[in-house]
Amino acid sequence: MDRAGPQPSRRRLLKGAVLAAVPYALLPTARAVGRPQAVDFPSAEWQPASTSNYTAANRPSTYSVDRVIIHVTQETYASTLAIFQNPQKKVSAHYVVRSADGHIAQCVREADVAWHAGNWDYNTHSVGIEHEGWVDKPAYFTDALYQESARLTAAICDRYGIPKDRAHILGHYEVPGTDHTDPGPNWDWVRYIRLVNLA
Ligand SMILES: [Zn+2]
Repeated sequence: MDRAGPQPSRRRLLKGAVLAAVPYALLPTARAVGRPQAVDFPSAEWQPASTSNYTAANRPSTYSVDRVIIHVTQETYASTLAIFQNPQKKVSAHYVVRSADGHIAQCVREADVAWHAGNWDYNTHSVGIEHEGWVDKPAYFTDALYQESARLTAAICDRYGIPKDRAHILGHYEVPGTDHTDPGPNWDWVRYIRLVNLA
């Protein structure tokens, strides 16, 4: 994707017009069928974000991947996927973990730069994982959510040689310049890092 290009090609305009005419609810399924092998984490379900909501890249050759950033959605799982699929929203994360069962959706390929940290340097060098829930509702942080998220983070750390510690597995609140507080005081970091190292 060339976001800096002077003007979109006619092909892109036509493609955009066609996509705009497709009933919104049909898009994820249609795209998922088109890219069945797209996920980087084998058990994840491909639920692609709008291409307007991330920067195409070729990581780790364009940018090293050296940290994982942990988020909480402040939305339901379904609403989060819909936001990422809405080209007006200008936001995405690589993964979303569902509270009830730990099911994982991948929305942006790890090679691409998702827009989740609000900081370009951190976006370019990280993988962003959203967790369904709210910072003030600890019941959303289920055993399944911790367990499956930890498996995912462990796989990312293994893939890029990222140390499995708090210096490299960060909360969104720790990103310089952010005003976000997630994952918040109810997120059990000690438990999470232990699970990542056991996974
Ligand atoms: Zn966040």
